Amino acid sequence: MKITKVEVLEFHCHTVPFFHPIGCRIYTDEGIYGDGEAALSYGVGYHAAFGMIRDLAQLVIGMDPLDNEVIWDKMHKETFWGMAGGPVVFAGISAIDMAVWDIRAKTFGVPLYKLLGGKRNPVLRCYASQIQQGFGPKHEMLWKPEQYAEIAKKCVEADGYDAVKIDFYVFDENGGVFDRDRKRAKMDPRTLRVAIDRLEAVRKAVGDDVDIIIENHSNLDAMSAIQLANAAEPYNIFFFEEPNTPSAKTSKYICENINIPVANGERIFSRWQYMPYFEASALQVAQPDIGTCGGFTEAKKICDVAHTYDVAVQAHACGSPLSSVAAVQLETALPNFIIHEHHLCFLHAYNRELCKYDYQPVNGTISAPEIPGIGNEWTDEAISNATKITVEN
Ligand code: MG
Repeated sequence: MKITKVEVLEFHCHTVPFFHPIGCRIYTDEGIYGDGEAALSYGVGYHAAFGMIRDLAQLVIGMDPLDNEVIWDKMHKETFWGMAGGPVVFAGISAIDMAVWDIRAKTFGVPLYKLLGGKRNPVLRCYASQIQQGFGPKHEMLWKPEQYAEIAKKCVEADGYDAVKIDFYVFDENGGVFDRDRKRAKMDPRTLRVAIDRLEAVRKAVGDDVDIIIENHSNLDAMSAIQLANAAEPYNIFFFEEPNTPSAKTSKYICENINIPVANGERIFSRWQYMPYFEASALQVAQPDIGTCGGFTEAKKICDVAHTYDVAVQAHACGSPLSSVAAVQLETALPNFIIHEHHLCFLHAYNRELCKYDYQPVNGTISAPEIPGIGNEWTDEAISNATKITVEN
């Protein structure tokens, strides 16, 4: 089998200016195609991901998609920048690798988790993610402690989740966006209290049988992260995600000074970048994103190395529904799986309509689809509305 053509796709979600899924579709001479995604849909850099997929696509034309390791090694070693790649390089590699795995699984007529080793976890426990922005059909800005209590209760009682994740420092106590400078170095008591008042309200609302994850999007520094974790400790926190600017050394310092497990990974790419964290015991939950860590080929290796350090895995996912089901496929096969993230972006129509299938957790759990491949694909309409470049011989 040979790769004959790659379409690079920039999807347009016109109702939300901050969300730009970038994907690809790889075609073969046997009529099987596969879809992939570069998980830079948020933040700055999606145009770069589009360009990186385009450049990498030229390398893989004519290659056999069953040779995923050979393809991956070529993208990593024969591109000059690949070997020290950051988010853009690895997002490009990831998108191509994801599509290659979709083709591989379709070729063998099996759901992708089978090629990763089989159904270790038939049912995945999920958490409702980023509920400071609501957890329904549209984005909200929640800032009063009682609003946090209410949304957490809704996730538990109406939706059936027994775990929620919240960034307590997105919105300030007046309903505005939190001033970054207030979170640097040692926070003043009033700033710290904003998070703890909200956390206390959530814990009271959901009771002791629900896990609470603190998200921080790397917005604190090491000192203030320790301050927040120590103040949050009485509320029994499941884990503390991205406490500070990604760094194995400062993450180790944080781990040694708090009693809450640390999660990290959506801004760590490839085994080479994960290893210093594993070796320093600088994280307890790894969160590789299949759309940025190097695709399935690399994610499985990161997760296997994590296992040898007793590090659990929750695959990060905040992109199109393709990235969500990709995470499900990986987590289904992992012995060190801990919990699945269901991000609020998967509840929004502008995102749900990009893909053929719409998988949503039921009673706080989800299972891998049993159809061949990743289990989802771009719709014809999404492709026809996308900005597109075709790379072929
Ligand atoms: Mg995160």
